[in-house]
Amino acid sequence: MHPLAQLDHQFVWHPFTQMRDWLKREPVVIVAGKGAVLRDMGGHEYLDANSSIWTNLHGHNHPKINAAIQRQLKKIAHSSALGLANEPASLLAEKLVRAANPQLVGRASPRAGSSGASPHLGKVFFSDNGSTALEVALKLAYEFTRRTRAAEPKFLSLAGAYHGDTVGAVSLGHIDLFHKSYSGLLFRTDQVMSPYCYRCPFNRAKPERADAREYRKCNLECVSLVEKKFATQRRKGNPYAAFVFEPLIQGAAGMIPQPRGWLRRVTEIARHHGALLIADEVMTGFGRCGVESRETRVEGQTTNKSRLSTLDPRPSTLFASHHEGVQPDFLCLAKGLTGGYLPMAATLTTQKVFDAFLGEYGEFKTFFHGHSYTANQLGAAAALASLDILRGKPSVYARQNLEKNLHDELQALWSLPNVGDIRQVGLIAGIELVRDWRTRKPFDLRERAGIRVCEAMARRGVLTRPVRNVIVLMPPYCTTKAQLQKIIRAVFDSVCEIFGRGGV
Ligand code: PMP
Repeated sequence: MHPLAQLDHQFVWHPFTQMRDWLKREPVVIVAGKGAVLRDMGGHEYLDANSSIWTNLHGHNHPKINAAIQRQLKKIAHSSALGLANEPASLLAEKLVRAANPQLVGRASPRAGSSGASPHLGKVFFSDNGSTALEVALKLAYEFTRRTRAAEPKFLSLAGAYHGDTVGAVSLGHIDLFHKSYSGLLFRTDQVMSPYCYRCPFNRAKPERADAREYRKCNLECVSLVEKKFATQRRKGNPYAAFVFEPLIQGAAGMIPQPRGWLRRVTEIARHHGALLIADEVMTGFGRCGVESRETRVEGQTTNKSRLSTLDPRPSTLFASHHEGVQPDFLCLAKGLTGGYLPMAATLTTQKVFDAFLGEYGEFKTFFHGHSYTANQLGAAAALASLDILRGKPSVYARQNLEKNLHDELQALWSLPNVGDIRQVGLIAGIELVRDWRTRKPFDLRERAGIRVCEAMARRGVLTRPVRNVIVLMPPYCTTKAQLQKIIRAVFDSVCEIFGRGGV
């Protein structure tokens, strides 16, 4: 075994990893990366098919981000944001506010009772990772509600929700496998059905060889359940303080995409009941959900832009919420914020929330929260460079091409009997493995179907991690068509290797 692998085995404890399995085989030790390619100690090359757990945007070793970090490094790597401002963080905050508030070009037809005005996200609170971005939103929403409504704030999130691993973020989560053992540590939050069309009890459609959202037969009961949940809580005299969601697609829940119009409708309901909207765009942000289409379609009816779209649908829209014309009160960002280079996060919110924390020192209304590396200069410099690249035409074209190529290449996988559902949102794809596509019968988790397929893919030079039995493809934006073809071929051949061509 390579000495570095030995050191890893001796000393390192890996996240979300059964270490008994880990210690059975020599780990891949990454030493370099360029574009979509990672290289290990032995000189083997791999395609980074999940963008290093959903973080990398433009590829590894990007000359512009490298140069930005090097320029910053010549000045200073870090100084504290507790009591001091700094150059790149100030510049970045302004850029994020611009990106988070696309020009309004109209106004949604507001539901009765809602103000109809889109919140302006004008304040940025920096932190370190996706979990802390959510912790910040959670604490701010909690305290804001207490100060403005004098109630005990209650939170609603989606079934299958995952918002990070710190205790507040875990409290918002609803994945028993990850969260149940910590239940004694957590505060209670409610959950409501999320639209998992492929396995939805309301979907009466027989399985087809297409994304379940396209052939579902239902009356969007999932939306009615959201309405019911909000109404019930309101009747209890303490309406939900905030609704927390991943827009367009839930990641760790199993790459669960929302039918078009769902987000728009449920957020209107939430607003109608006075809830704040907390959008977790840790995975979906920074263009991952694709270049925006020209119209917003509510399921079952194509509606014209003037009625539904409140936001200028320029292709440079970077956030998933905006694809449906939804503007949250809290926008949580991490992962791709620095292009996948450095751990940094941001929680954007409104002046109204900010103002609730203003007062004389002695009133102690201060937001008592912060981390040592908050607003780190190297991270901010990387983020500025990444935003610059995202805004450029080459990146927009690359994303458009990747989205189309991904769609085209994925079609080959429908011929595999163990592929039950293939769901794509922009540059993200989830391939759900099942015992038999005709019955949608799932594999037992103990069979490690997803893990075994990903191990077989690694042997073919393609790296990704499954979400349980869902194979995740989320390659960096620079991935070429040939590289994508190699990724899809690796999925195809690996599924055949593990289950046989005719399925299990
Ligand atoms: N929210 C979402 C939607 C995520 O996917 C993740 C991480 N996978 C997090 C929050 C937590 O981010 P981090 O791992 O950076 O704490």
